[in-house]
Amino acid sequence: MNIEVDTHTHTVASGHAYSTLAENIAVASARGLKFLAITDHGPQMPGAAHFWYFLNMRVIPRIMHGVGILRGVEANIINFKGELDIDEEVHQHMDIVLASFHQPVIAPATKNLHTDGIVRAMATGKIDVFAHGGNPAFPIDVDEVAGAAASYNVLVEINNSSFTTSRPGSMKNCVALAEAVARHDGYLTFGSDAHIASKVGAFEECIHLIDTIGFPKDRILTRSGESFLTFLKGKNKQVDLSEFDLLFTR
Ligand SMILES: [Zn+2]
Ligand SMILES: [Zn+2]
Repeated sequence: MNIEVDTHTHTVASGHAYSTLAENIAVASARGLKFLAITDHGPQMPGAAHFWYFLNMRVIPRIMHGVGILRGVEANIINFKGELDIDEEVHQHMDIVLASFHQPVIAPATKNLHTDGIVRAMATGKIDVFAHGGNPAFPIDVDEVAGAAASYNVLVEINNSSFTTSRPGSMKNCVALAEAVARHDGYLTFGSDAHIASKVGAFEECIHLIDTIGFPKDRILTRSGESFLTFLKGKNKQVDLSEFDLLFTR
C-alpha cells in the first residue's frame, strides 16, 4: 500500500527528538511522500518550542525537494473541556493541527472524561487529526470518538510508533478504534510520529494492522496527497494552501 502523506513528525524543536527539518525532508523526498507534516509538540509539553517557533513557520517554503511541507503542531489537550495549548494566533498560522493526550500535560482520568475531552476538541472545529487515540493510558469510547470524528471531519490517526517504541499495549485499542472508524464511515490517517529522520514515512506496522483487520483502504485518506489537500482546503483555514496545487500539475 502506498501512503503519500506523513501527518505526524517531530524535529529537534520538540526537545526530545533528534533530527532537523532538513534531515526529515530529505527522507520524505527519498521515500516519495507528497506531504510531510511538521508537528512538533505544543508549548505545554516539557522541552517544547516557544510559541514564536510556531508563528514563524511561515518562513518554511511550501514545497522543498518535491515535498509539500505542512506547518503544524501536535497540540496538547489540556483539560476535559477539550481546550488546547495553542492560542488563536498560532492556530491561524497552522496548516494542520493534531490533538492528543500526553501524561506530562494532563493526568489520566476516566474513560468518560477522556472521551469528552477529545469529542469537545473535535467540536471546536480547530483540529484535523486525533493522534495516538489507542494509548492505553487514556482509554476512550471508540464508537463515540469515531462518530464525532466522522461528523466533525476529523481524521483518526493510526500511529506507527505506538507499535514500536511508544505507548506499549496500544494494538488492541487501535484495532477497536479503526474498526469503529469503519463503522462510522470516517477516515484514518497514518502518522509515523518520527522522532528521528529515519522513521519519517515509516508505516509498516500501520499497514500490517489494516491488512490484518481488512480495514477498507478507501477510508485511509492519506493514500492520496491530492485527496489530503482537498481535505485540508475543506477545513476553512486562514492559511493559503493554493501553492500546494503545484504538486499536482504536470
Ligand atoms: Zn504524541
Ligand atoms: Zn508525536
